[in-house]
Amino acid sequence: MLQGDRYSPEFEKCWQLLLTGQGLGDCYLEGTNQKISELLQPSWDLIKCARCQIPIPMKVTGVEHTACVCSDMADLPNFDLPSPHLPVSSRDYLFKICSDLIKKNEE
Ligand SMILES: [Zn+2]
Repeated sequence: MLQGDRYSPEFEKCWQLLLTGQGLGDCYLEGTNQKISELLQPSWDLIKCARCQIPIPMKVTGVEHTACVCSDMADLPNFDLPSPHLPVSSRDYLFKICSDLIKKNEE
């Protein structure tokens, strides 16, 4: 899914397809109960699964049973693997440290 400091082209292609909503029909992520088209609605939010940290859907209002893809996977959680995360740009991270240091010096 990730490629260095960004999402892989395959993931981006898949994500763009999801955003168009074309041909989604009743597609859902295996191990979850909500259709992808439902999850793209503002009534859904993503929280981290308490067991494995994979983002799972939660209805913004009211209580709904939330399933995580890890519920069907015997090898999750695996704490030897990096936990789910957004792409990390070392360059942006270092730039932020640098600008924080400059700000601190100016105080
Ligand atoms: Zn999980």
